[in-house]
Amino acid sequence: MTNLLQQAKLEPLLSEISSRRDDLILLTQDLIRIPTLNPPGKNYREICEFLDKRLTKSGFLTELVRAYGTPGDSDKYPRWNLVARRDGAGAGDCVHFNSHIDVVEVGSGWTQDPFGGALIDGRIYGRGACDMKGGLAASIIAAEAFIDTNPDFMGSIEISATGDEESGGYGGVAYLAEKGYFNPKRVQHVIIPEPLNKDRVCLGHRGGWWAEIETFGEIAHGSMPFLGDCAVRHMGAVINKFETQLFPAMAARRTEMPVVPDGARSSTMNINSIHGGQSEQDEDFTGLPAHCVPDSCRIVIDRRFLVEETLDGVRDEVESLLDELKTERPKFEYEMRELNSVLPSMTDRDAPIAVSVAKQIEIVMGKPAEFVASPGTYDQKHIDRIGTLKNCVAYGPGILELAHKPDEYVGVEDMMDSVQVMARCLADILLQK
Ligand SMILES: [Zn+2]
Repeated sequence: MTNLLQQAKLEPLLSEISSRRDDLILLTQDLIRIPTLNPPGKNYREICEFLDKRLTKSGFLTELVRAYGTPGDSDKYPRWNLVARRDGAGAGDCVHFNSHIDVVEVGSGWTQDPFGGALIDGRIYGRGACDMKGGLAASIIAAEAFIDTNPDFMGSIEISATGDEESGGYGGVAYLAEKGYFNPKRVQHVIIPEPLNKDRVCLGHRGGWWAEIETFGEIAHGSMPFLGDCAVRHMGAVINKFETQLFPAMAARRTEMPVVPDGARSSTMNINSIHGGQSEQDEDFTGLPAHCVPDSCRIVIDRRFLVEETLDGVRDEVESLLDELKTERPKFEYEMRELNSVLPSMTDRDAPIAVSVAKQIEIVMGKPAEFVASPGTYDQKHIDRIGTLKNCVAYGPGILELAHKPDEYVGVEDMMDSVQVMARCLADILLQK
């Protein structure tokens, strides 16, 4: 089909999208006004019921799915998810939009009501505005406008709203993937509208490995430290080892993954916390500390790794440095406890959904799409590993750097552009060519 013909065929869809601008704003505001803080996982049921009502009206068949027994699931904070499906006029592929409904804590520094959804100068403010209620709203408007103007489309459209992404996704996408909702027989294309900027296609993310390391010593009177053994000094040696060997080695590794920002194109590690010796007293405690040699010191490490590295390799690298210390330092003892791990995920840039999204971005934005990968993980990992569905990208409105910040917002114009990209993708995949 020529571009002109294609354009003519899309005309009703595009004007339908323009006419839904106010609807998009209202929907985004309504979603922000349901405070779905995680932890602990508040109001999942409320937001799912709100979406259920809306999508049922638009002709979707909906299912509310509670992830019983997953981390954090309780009668007080049940892990509810919504899956909505709209079948077209005949057989074809299924395009699935997956958005997480949970938002992180508010934090300080806000000048706007974090759950007010105020619209000021073309921006909608609120916790979750960009990450990622704006993306969820955009995908709903795109699907509804597409269905209304092309009721005879072939295949299916699914929209899921899932919990717990901010805490690992176990009560959300991981659970649904285990139950078969992301089986490649059921779903063929997935777009996750995370805020990766409206002109970028995100192909995947780095892996993560989290562990706690503890060094041991021997308690003694602080005035005679030579009678004990200081666990904090042992930990100092661990950190020194990391500084002189691990950090330079990680910085020298570069990935082929298009990770942004550039610093994350190398392996990285954050030392998340450190604690040694006596536990901290309550804030109202006014006394002085007792004089003791600490017999334990703990750190939590957050190691992000590249698609070129293996989880075993990452683990062994740290372990072998700690074992070296055993031979170098008298009485050095440690324990390492793995807390969690996530493998990297990377969709091929020739995958059908990556190609289609990139093509629509180029048409709407007038310049080639940028392919990126995310420094941190998101729900793609579960769709990839548990669902075994590889044809998945993240694409959505909102500026990545605003996520989790005070005065988080999403731009209405950015959302409108993303709606167009998403709707054009549906046309590209679900309309007879
Ligand atoms: Zn997010």
